[in-house]
Amino acid sequence: MADSHYDVIIIGGGAVGLGVALEITRRFPHRRLLVLEKESGVARHQSGHNSGVIHSGVYYKPGSLKARLCVAGAAAMVEFCREHGILHRVCGKVIVATNADELSRLEELRHRGEANGLTGLRLIGPEELREIEPHASGIRALVVPSTGVTDYAAVCEKYAELIAARGATILTSAAATAIRRRNDEIAIETPRGAFSASSLINCAGLFSDRIARMAGDEPEMMIVPFRGEYYDLKPERAPLVRALIYPVPDPRFPFLGVHFTRRITERVDGGPNAVLALAREGYRYFDISVRDLTSSLAFSGFWRMAAQHWRKGIGEWHRSVSKPAFVRALQRLLPELAEDDLAPGGSGVRAQALKPDGSLVDDFLFVSASRALHVLNVPSPAATASLVIGKKIVDIAARDLGLK
Ligand SMILES: Cc1cc2nc3c(=O)[nH]c(=O)nc-3n(C[C@H](O)[C@H](O)[C@H](O)COP(=O)(O)OP(=O)(O)OC[C@H]3O[C@@H](n4cnc5c(N)ncnc54)[C@H](O)[C@@H]3O)c2cc1C
Repeated sequence: MADSHYDVIIIGGGAVGLGVALEITRRFPHRRLLVLEKESGVARHQSGHNSGVIHSGVYYKPGSLKARLCVAGAAAMVEFCREHGILHRVCGKVIVATNADELSRLEELRHRGEANGLTGLRLIGPEELREIEPHASGIRALVVPSTGVTDYAAVCEKYAELIAARGATILTSAAATAIRRRNDEIAIETPRGAFSASSLINCAGLFSDRIARMAGDEPEMMIVPFRGEYYDLKPERAPLVRALIYPVPDPRFPFLGVHFTRRITERVDGGPNAVLALAREGYRYFDISVRDLTSSLAFSGFWRMAAQHWRKGIGEWHRSVSKPAFVRALQRLLPELAEDDLAPGGSGVRAQALKPDGSLVDDFLFVSASRALHVLNVPSPAATASLVIGKKIVDIAARDLGLK
């Protein structure tokens, strides 16, 4: 059994919580640190159900936290995988414009990428695209050489191993069920006992807003869960894709747009889409949580978001229930793909922060309160950037929580 008092308790054993824990054990080796994870192992949610892409940072607004932490984070992730023998491949990707309307956005992406410090970005025509991805079709493409793939569940296992080796404790099957602030400490109840700490860092992903409220803080946002569903290319058709083939994103919805990923396992998948999930950990269509659903419906921002984006939502939902519609979206990039080439694949649920005015929080969001730091929005590319997000959060904890 773990001891009961710590200097810092982190809630959440995903890539972000573990990235923070790793940095605390490196920078403050004498601090007593506990990570509480509700599942029986680490990386059981977003960090173990994603596309496995080491993003380059080409998409994000220059100067944003996402841009800065992704570019540095991708380099750190590749270095970490190299150092610890974790499978990874820097395979590059192509972002493909399939109609004239997308050309200016493709050019804009190149400028963004360069402003973010990426090198080697190149606009190419259809012939060169066919040399890189012989089955892809487009009128122009942007080559992003620094994109890669890895297995983030394996990365998290390695984080956990290093954290434990440095003397910190990771307690699994230990959901935080109640949090109370006492004079100079925070007390947390779990099924595995009660623990207290001088500081709390909330990295609970899909439940980060609820943990903030449990701690008595008002985060002024709500997590909306978006399920991303994949189809796998049948193994005999996997040679249609050599590496990563992406569409030009709509700047208003950068996380939408199904694409192809050759994973580190060599399996190729198409997806993910983004449909509103009816449960925060709703990996399947019929997973419904009355509590999650009623809390969404009771949040004014939810209705404002629905009023603004219902058209996009219906399109995503249509691709979720109709395989032909999903395949048509993928065929824009790979015209010879047939419905028969695809078998149902896995899914993941994204934690996306929504504001009361109905807008989706775009950048990473970290909010300090008394003795607590809440990590409220860390969508993609947070797995890529988890090592440097860890450093950033520890900087904030040192400044705002007096961690030293
Ligand atoms: C479909 C999909 C595709 C993606 N693709 C990519 C990609 O290719 N590249 C990339 O960089 N990013 C990608 N992402 C984003 C990336 O996976 C996430 O940004 C990242 O994993 C977030 O990590 P996290 O630690 O915040 O969340 P999580 O991994 O969800 O971890 C949060 C943890 O908190 C735990 N928890 C919750 N409540 C409690 C509680 N009460 N007590 C104790 N523990 C609790 C949960 O069990 C969970 O383990 C993708 C995400 C999805 C869903």
